Amino acid sequence: MVRAIVGGNWGDEGKGKITDMLGAQSDVVVRFQGGANAGHTIINEYGRAALHLLPSGVFNPHAVNVIGQGVALDLDKLFRELDEEVLSKGVPTPKLLISDRAHVLMPYHIQFDTLEEMRLADKAYGSTKSGIAPFYSDKVMKKGIQVCEIFHDDLLMEHLQEIAALKNAQLTDIYHIDRREPRSEAEKKLFSPIDPKELFDYLVSFRDRLRPLVGDVASFLHQCIREGKQILLEGQLGSLKDTDNGIYPMVTSSSPLAGFACVGAGIPPYAISDVITVVKAYSSAVGAGAFVSEILDPVQAEELRRRGGDKGEYGATTGRPRRVGWFDAVATRYGCMMQGATEVALTNIDVLGYLDEIPVCAAYELDGRRIDAFPVTPLLEKCKPVIEKLPGWKCDISHIRAYKDLPANARRYVEYIEEQIGVRISMVSNGPARESILYR
Ligand code: GDP
Repeated sequence: MVRAIVGGNWGDEGKGKITDMLGAQSDVVVRFQGGANAGHTIINEYGRAALHLLPSGVFNPHAVNVIGQGVALDLDKLFRELDEEVLSKGVPTPKLLISDRAHVLMPYHIQFDTLEEMRLADKAYGSTKSGIAPFYSDKVMKKGIQVCEIFHDDLLMEHLQEIAALKNAQLTDIYHIDRREPRSEAEKKLFSPIDPKELFDYLVSFRDRLRPLVGDVASFLHQCIREGKQILLEGQLGSLKDTDNGIYPMVTSSSPLAGFACVGAGIPPYAISDVITVVKAYSSAVGAGAFVSEILDPVQAEELRRRGGDKGEYGATTGRPRRVGWFDAVATRYGCMMQGATEVALTNIDVLGYLDEIPVCAAYELDGRRIDAFPVTPLLEKCKPVIEKLPGWKCDISHIRAYKDLPANARRYVEYIEEQIGVRISMVSNGPARESILYR
């Protein structure tokens, strides 16, 4: 059985907790897209861990954790995360399988990401500067380096020399690094040309650690499907950040949709039987872009931001404050549709317990007309929220362990969202802890 856990909004919906819960029962946990640019927060018996690249099954000693070919593989961050977030906490060495076809996110991708955001200045995308956009651009431009190449010296060196010639021309011609005055060690590196020999040594330094972990992910997964193993596909970010279907251009550079696991890990499309789409009881978004249900009053926004999640709405990777808003029925209905949601896990409902009335964005108003379908970006920028208010429950509900024990107004809120999105809400998460989950 293949199940996917994916985001129905802009990311940070609380997928980590649901994935960790289901990861504990899975034989295989698969990452199929994205890189270290977003993070899962996992709270379990080992404490609080921020995972960016490792699949959530790393805490389950029986699970095989797969990094598929669709992932932007930053080797430095991968091994640091394994050492610092997993092994140093006393977790047994997890089983890891890395696709030999995955591409490596190189130090120059981070350099280009940073330089491009600097060039764009006030028009910057708000990138996490993890190198993701330059990485995926290179891959599509056929300038990427696959993991398998690390084991072939001559081929690798030749490839790096070709890449360095192009990159160094771009660094001088577009980013004018030769005319920059570095003001710090970090800037000195940022304004330096790339050196193929240095990159070669960088890649080869991972060879011994990588060798036992690298393999043919698609064949492994097909075999697991034939054997009836429980496979969990772990999505990063959410539908609205999808390159093709999201709020372009304020999107990520890969597809966070469950269907992309067919490309990013070689899962056959017919095998995905359950798409658990994680939806948040309010909205949060990182970076620039249209955000119709955003709370514009800074005091109201700060209140929700401070109460959100387990430590407030601040990025797990960057620490920067997230933009917050009310639940957006239009965006979430679209997000669930694009995922092909078969069921929804609604998270963070406990956070709203402080409100007398809970505003929700029930529809958009575009040029004086009410619309219910999620529009393209230029129109989205012009949309205003149509706000409805639901009665609050005014108490802490995080200790409750059965759906029927929720206050009537909390159940009413869940049922309202279910009706709006047209997908069954099978789980309600009412707190950051693993046991704060109510099945319906
Ligand atoms: P992801 O990007 O979707 O994986 O988001 P995370 O798993 O990192 O979740 C974001 C934050 O929400 C984390 O701090 C979680 O501990 C927290 N969280 C998840 N579910 C709930 C919930 O139901 N209630 C509260 N208060 N926090 C939650």
